[in-house]
Order: sequence, then structure tokens, then C-alpha cells
Amino acid sequence: MLSEFQLIDRYFKRSSRAGGPVQLGVGDDCALLQPPSGELLAVSTDMLIEGRHFFAGANPYDLGHKALAVNLSDLAAMGAQPISFTLALALPTSDPHWLQPFSEGLFYLADAEGIELIGGDTTRGPLAISITVIGSVSNTQALKRSGTHEGDELWVSGTLGDARLALEVLQNKRTLAPDLLAKASERLHRPHPRVALGLALRGIASAAIDVSDGLLGDLGHLLNQSSLSATLFADDLPFGDALASQTTDTRYALALNGGDDYELCFSAALDQHQAVIDAGHRSQTPVTCIGRLTKGSGIHVQDHQGNLISAVNQSFDHFN
Ligand code: ADP
Ligand code: MG
Repeated sequence: MLSEFQLIDRYFKRSSRAGGPVQLGVGDDCALLQPPSGELLAVSTDMLIEGRHFFAGANPYDLGHKALAVNLSDLAAMGAQPISFTLALALPTSDPHWLQPFSEGLFYLADAEGIELIGGDTTRGPLAISITVIGSVSNTQALKRSGTHEGDELWVSGTLGDARLALEVLQNKRTLAPDLLAKASERLHRPHPRVALGLALRGIASAAIDVSDGLLGDLGHLLNQSSLSATLFADDLPFGDALASQTTDTRYALALNGGDDYELCFSAALDQHQAVIDAGHRSQTPVTCIGRLTKGSGIHVQDHQGNLISAVNQSFDHFN
């Protein structure tokens, strides 16, 4: 059995890159960071609990990836440049067959994004993973939820609904052809945080949020910061390949109320339309205009003929 410190040394301690914002990493009482001059630190935490956010026995490589990805998605939604992260881990045992692939999944994404693990905490307990990511952005360029304006267009990156579809198939609530399930499961287990898009949208988007609990719910959070209403064009919603194989009702339900998409939903002024498309190209991220912000309240989903599509807000809430 590995001791706590052997475990940290073997799986989580790596040599720091010299000259970057991380002046001191894992191994001391605190990490020391030097944020870029004139920028603010952007900090966000997300926790994954066994039995709540993932099935018992879930693939540890995927868990390492996802635990970091969901956190990076929050930095992306603020337009922040990721710098580093901490990892708090509760483990039932110090099992190398779990720790090795977990750390590989974690560091694969960390290396892809050029960020360092700078510290954390390790304890025995029911499996739980809590990551805090740290990034930087200037106060004027941060994509705060409160920046929306009446008349802004609403956009979403990538596609919606496939992750939730995969989850419902794994829960035996729906069926799906094996090749489509493989694609949709990739979205559920290894989400790709839209960091590059978030950076490309600085100075262009007026506000942004990441879609983790379903588009309607998360868009609702964005609207809560203003006294605006959103009109969404159902025909323009970008569905995933797997969702495209489902009935119209299922497509709307999962794209609007799904969850685990980790796409960005953002607003931008009408005269920034082409700039948003260019930002999508620069960051190699598909972007789709899905609606408009108007005076009023609530979210209205309609088809191109203007017929209202009933879509109840079923955003996931852990306490409801
Ligand atoms: P303390 O007793 O001061 O809380 P610990 O003994 O818990 O310190 O941790 C020793 C060092 O290892 C610290 O630098 C801490 O940040 C780091 N560390 C602990 N757990 C992890 C982990 N899961 N991943 C990365 N670093 C960790
Ligand atoms: Mg500690």
C-alpha cells in the first residue's frame, strides 16, 4: 500500500516549468503564482462525487480528463487563460491501477492546455475529486454573465444534447445504434472545454456561460443578471450526430434541457456577428447563432414560423 506522500510523489508531483506564472508548485505549504501584470486571477472549483456525478467503477482515465475538463470549461466561459490547478482527492484505497490511468487522463488534458498541477490534498474516503482551476484575464475583457444588452444575438458553440443522450442510453432509458453511442459517450466522458473559443471571444462577446446543466437552465442564469428575455430559434439549435437520429421531440428536449454539454452559450452585439464567426474560425470551434435577447423575461423557444415550442425548464438542481 502506498503512503499518502508516496502517492503524491509518484502520481501528482512533476517538475515545474521555469519562467512561467507558477513560481512554486507541489511540495511546499502553498504554491506561489505570479499572475501576468495588469490581469486578474480567475478561480473556479468543481467537484465530482462517485454515485452522484459518475457511476461507481467509472473508467479512471476518463474521470481524470473530465474532472479537469469541467473546471476548464468555467475558465473558458470567463474568457480566462488557464494557468494552473489544484486537486483535492478522497480515495477509498491507494490503488495504482486506479491512480495511474487517472493521473494520465488528468495530465493529458493539462499538457494539452499547457497548465500545471500546483498542489492539493489527499485523504482516505469515498471517491471524490475536487479541482480548482486558476487562470487570468483582464477586468475589461472578462466575459461576465452581466454584460448582456437588449438586441444582442445569442450563440452556442459546438453541438448540444449528445452527452445527455448517452447518459440516458447507459441508464437504459433510450436505445441508440452502437456507433452513435460511441460518439455520444465520448461527449459524456471526455468533454472538450472551449478554452480557445473563450479566449477568441474576448472583446467580442458581451457575456458568456458554459452549458453544464442544460441550455435553458444555464441561459436562465445569464438572463438573471439582466432584465432581458431570450427568444431561441429551435430550428437553428446545433444537434450532435447521435441526437440527429432521434425524434424531433427528443432532439428538442435533450438539446434544451440536457446537460454535460460543456459548450459555451454567449451573447454578442449584432454588429459583432462577423467577428464571432471569425473567432470561431480562429479557435477552430463551430459557433451557431441560436436567438436574440429582447426586453421582457423568460425564454421563448419558437420555430421559424413563429410557433412557440413548449419547452419546460428542467435544468438540473442538486437540491430539487
Ligand atoms: P499540508 O499538510 O500542508 O496540507 P499535505 O501534506 O496535505 O500538506 O501535502 C503536501 C504537498 O503535496 C502540498 O504541497 C500539497 O499541495 C501537495 N498535494 C497533496 N495532495 C495533492 C494532490 N492530490 N495533488 C497535487 N498535490 C497534492
Ligand atoms: Mg493537506
